[in-house]
Amino acid sequence: MRPYILAETNWKALKDESIELAVLPWGATEAHNYHLPYGTDVFEADAIAAASGKIAWEAGAKVMILPTIPFGVNTGQADIYLDINLNPSTQLAILKDIVAVLHRQGIPKLLILNSHGGNDFKTMLREIGLIYPDMFFSTCNWFQAMDKTEYFDEMGDHADEMETSLIQYLHPSLVLPLEEAGEGREKKSKISGLREGWAWSERKWSMVTQDTGIGNPKCSTPEKGERFLRDVSQKLGQLLIEIASVDIQNRYE
Ligand SMILES: [Zn+2]
Repeated sequence: MRPYILAETNWKALKDESIELAVLPWGATEAHNYHLPYGTDVFEADAIAAASGKIAWEAGAKVMILPTIPFGVNTGQADIYLDINLNPSTQLAILKDIVAVLHRQGIPKLLILNSHGGNDFKTMLREIGLIYPDMFFSTCNWFQAMDKTEYFDEMGDHADEMETSLIQYLHPSLVLPLEEAGEGREKKSKISGLREGWAWSERKWSMVTQDTGIGNPKCSTPEKGERFLRDVSQKLGQLLIEIASVDIQNRYE
């Protein structure tokens, strides 16, 4: 039993415990090119949360990893079979209920460990922060925590070399042979502001990519996934330690 994983620990261990930071991993259930499982974002969130939680716990930080929420915002993939969408307003309702529990029980800090590009918790945490001004709310995207060029040859942002390498390492039996993967080619917008990245419009996924992937997975290896997982978990572990130890009322210098 890992004492920092809520799903594994028990009332005996927790009834006299005092947790400082709750970590809520949040994934999605969606197609990942032809070759990766629909649960890819959840598997990644589970693994990174557990590994970073271990680092923080062993350093003495009172952190608790909550179960990963398996569904995310998939409004742009409405026509992709069995991509399960949670609307942002539903996510806000879920978050409010979870934060109400934390507040009632004196757990002062929350980090949402986001594992899916369509999820965006910043505006929600601004709104919830007004309701609970004495608490500390934060979110991070693990997939943006590292310089990917130091780990991978082909860049992308969905079912790419990074995600494929991670799942090859974590769940090799769930990855099809790479010959069966599509090349993850992304069509670019005809609107220059969108191409340049300073204007935004939701990507209509089925128009942007044929195989649902963005980023070519052909150079993926489990060794790359293992190395990336180790380093990203180390970085996230440090984030957990810093958040757990900061004085909320005196957190700037
Ligand atoms: Zn993904």
